[in-house]
Amino acid sequence: MTAYKHILDIHPNACVVHVNFRPLYANDAFARFSGLESAEQILSLDSLMVLIDSEEHADAQIRYQQAMNEKQATPAKIIPHTDLFGNPAIVEITDRAIIWDGQPALCTFITVVTDKIKKQRRLKKLSEQDALTNIPNRRYLINTMNDHQQNGVAEQYYMALIDIDFFKRVNDQYSHLAGDAVLIQFSELLAGFCDEGDHLARLGGEEFVLLIKSNNLTSVEQRIENLRSTVETNHFIIASNGNHEAPRLRCTVSIGVTDIVQGEQTDLPYGRADKALYLAKNSGRNQVRVQLAHDQT
Ligand code: GH3
Ligand code: MG
Ligand code: MG
Repeated sequence: MTAYKHILDIHPNACVVHVNFRPLYANDAFARFSGLESAEQILSLDSLMVLIDSEEHADAQIRYQQAMNEKQATPAKIIPHTDLFGNPAIVEITDRAIIWDGQPALCTFITVVTDKIKKQRRLKKLSEQDALTNIPNRRYLINTMNDHQQNGVAEQYYMALIDIDFFKRVNDQYSHLAGDAVLIQFSELLAGFCDEGDHLARLGGEEFVLLIKSNNLTSVEQRIENLRSTVETNHFIIASNGNHEAPRLRCTVSIGVTDIVQGEQTDLPYGRADKALYLAKNSGRNQVRVQLAHDQT
């Protein structure tokens, strides 16, 4: 025991041993982590709870009970933490039930992982972002739809697949750069159209998806029709050339709408929306078509 204690004393990771949060041992790294000067100050605390964010107290109790019942170290958990100076951090916690001075206790290791987690979140955000328009991309859409399926909320959404009509002509008549400018403004228009709970993504090219949070098809159709007519009357600025007023152009969109079924593969609603979009294109473009899951059976 004493040999291990000497190792823990100099271990760079914060370590504390406690019984129901009453500290029995803490190393210097734990004191530093907690914002206190010495391990002795930790031991003078009645409960480690004063060092834990109040919103985390209930979870900490649950983790304690679970860890005490485990023979092995618990899987690392990532939780938010605020030190005594109010500095926010993200920490990784590993618990292990042990016998300390003859009594069952919990040994808790803490590693500050704020930089690592922030970097991971930044990378995830970048990997889910479209480089031209800065709105979410296809990967974001797939991840979000998978999350919705897993969380059982998939059916609370409708999908609208939006494709700009004759977009190739914009590139051909004005330039690829002008086309890019239209895509950026078009994304901003779509982002402004989103309500809380909706999700927007650029699938690629001039094809976009909206996941609309609603349980009412009629109101979704009204909103999407509203979007269609807003695009139709919008003026897209395609270049600014010195003293002259920047040229503007108008676009229309065709939109395919579908519902989402709990438990279905994420490519199925996309297939239905694409079918509805195809119908909208073939019926003269600049219109909304709906293809529901039960229409197909
Ligand atoms: P439709 O009404 O049938 O949708 O006709 P469309 O011309 O819009 O469709 P099509 O799929 O034939 O052409 C899409 C064009 O979008 C072709 C491609 O050059 C252009 N495009 C795709 N990605 C980008 C981009 O990032 N920037 C620009 N400027 N153009 C793009
Ligand atoms: Mg198009
Ligand atoms: Mg297209």
